[in-house]
Amino acid sequence: MADISYRIELAQPHTHYFDITLTVPAPAAVQQLSLPSWIPGSYLLREFARHLSGMKASQGSRDVAVEQLDKSRWQVRCSGRQALVVRYRVYAFDSSVRTAFLDAQRGFFNGTSLCLRVHGREQASHGIEFGVLPTGWQIASAMPNPAPGSYLAADYDELLDHPFELGQFWQGSFEAGGATHAVVVSGAWSGFDGERLLRDAQKICAAQIEFWHGPAAKRVEALPFVRYVFLLNCVDEGYGGLEHRASTALIAPRRNLPRLGQAETSDGYVQLLGLISHEYFHTWNVKRMKPAEFMRLDYAQENYTELLWFFEGFTSYYDDLMLVRSGLIDETRYLKLLAATVSGVLATPGRMVQSLAQASFDAWTKYYRPDENTPNATISYYGKGALLALALDLSLRSGSGGAGPVSSLDALMRGLWQQSQGGGIDEAQIMALLADLGGPELSREAAHWVHGTGDLPLPFLLERFGVQWSSDKPTLAQRLGLRVSESAVAGVQIKQVLADSLAQQAGLSPGDELLACNGWRLRRLEDALLSLAPQQLKLRLLIARDQRVLELSLDLPALSAASKVEGAPVLLSPAEKAAVRVTALRRAWLAA
Ligand SMILES: [Zn+2]
Repeated sequence: MADISYRIELAQPHTHYFDITLTVPAPAAVQQLSLPSWIPGSYLLREFARHLSGMKASQGSRDVAVEQLDKSRWQVRCSGRQALVVRYRVYAFDSSVRTAFLDAQRGFFNGTSLCLRVHGREQASHGIEFGVLPTGWQIASAMPNPAPGSYLAADYDELLDHPFELGQFWQGSFEAGGATHAVVVSGAWSGFDGERLLRDAQKICAAQIEFWHGPAAKRVEALPFVRYVFLLNCVDEGYGGLEHRASTALIAPRRNLPRLGQAETSDGYVQLLGLISHEYFHTWNVKRMKPAEFMRLDYAQENYTELLWFFEGFTSYYDDLMLVRSGLIDETRYLKLLAATVSGVLATPGRMVQSLAQASFDAWTKYYRPDENTPNATISYYGKGALLALALDLSLRSGSGGAGPVSSLDALMRGLWQQSQGGGIDEAQIMALLADLGGPELSREAAHWVHGTGDLPLPFLLERFGVQWSSDKPTLAQRLGLRVSESAVAGVQIKQVLADSLAQQAGLSPGDELLACNGWRLRRLEDALLSLAPQQLKLRLLIARDQRVLELSLDLPALSAASKVEGAPVLLSPAEKAAVRVTALRRAWLAA
């Protein structure tokens, strides 16, 4: 029996309202209540209380006044120790994994959206019960479930860390590392190959359990959870995931699911497996081992750390790496995914402006609030953080003097896991262990990579592993420094103009519509090249900006000239040509 309890009713799901009754036995004389402003793992103030309404309180048959103190905090003056009962509604119509959703087909919620915090009682047990559910609906969550329909969390932090899926869904399970892993899929088409998804997810989980805890025979440490739940919601468009202590909420396009009778592995399915791998890796890296600053969370305001390059970036490095190591993709496919990450980082001038540590600290106002200037002023701690992990892994594996494999990033991760005992770590600890494993020079270099804005020496490092680096022919958008959206109907719209690019020098601006080039109507940017006569390099552009039609022109440098602009990098692995030692190094990296 829980101390604090929430009864959740969804009598009219089509109105998108959850009705909640919170019961607080023996309340304080002045009892404060609040709703979190953000959800751990997603670093943006989302002010969940904006969807809460109709709050009323009572003790026995007596109504008690509720006074609102600020945007997300209330207080109730109670008399006597009789239980305080608080009723309120929450509007839930956001299909992301970060908040709550309810309609006639399904329901989903995080405790951060529905469950008021009872100040002074955070350490008490918190329970959830449901009213009558629509016919045929089931409930899925990793929250302990001591009786049918009744869920129990040891404290308020745990209550917030187990999302719930409600509705009619597909469900299967597998075992990995001795623990049951449930997979819940909502919104799948019939003909979806659930058995294949279970098989492939099992390979990822088994590889990660072995990564953190060693092979089964030598495992001394228990897994940090007894049961794990994947909650996957399939939609037309949408992608994302949020990590929790014993579960993850995922959203992915339903066309990415594997289909019965389909043997090949589509790019969409690889993306879904990468997402599963990413969120599962967080079970260790950020849900348990975490920034020291996150050991006590403040749900009312921003919680700053400079370490997201480690907790998100390194997790991003391992998500795809675990796919190749568990045999779900081959080396060539892995290098293609890696090349896409490299390409994304190199196409971002903001990498020369913002360091990885700054990008982490500013996540709340920059990464999570992107605008048209984002690529010029910021760098993603996911993408560049993953490349930093790659640079460190290859440096550790090849040894500082190239004398042979001496260590690996795997050893760093496991060492930190043991040192931290699954708790807080700081940058000094990461750098100290790096110095132990790879020498003080590598540790000093790593500090420059984290706090500076220079490029990582990846072509040089990859070459040691027999991976050749070359570049595709640049597209016109790359040569001009533009990011556009284009379609036959809407034409070419400029989304972003990269700093110091030809497009910026010519005076193009985000929001401009490119109407025509050299007298020809433009529907696709690349078609501008077709309007050029041989040897002609001048683009005369007709643009629309806030209803005005303007003319601009720019001279395209010849492609053969020594141009700063390169196309997307291509990483090739010529296995048969590489020397034996190099091949062995690469095998150890990709098959460790
Ligand atoms: Zn993540």
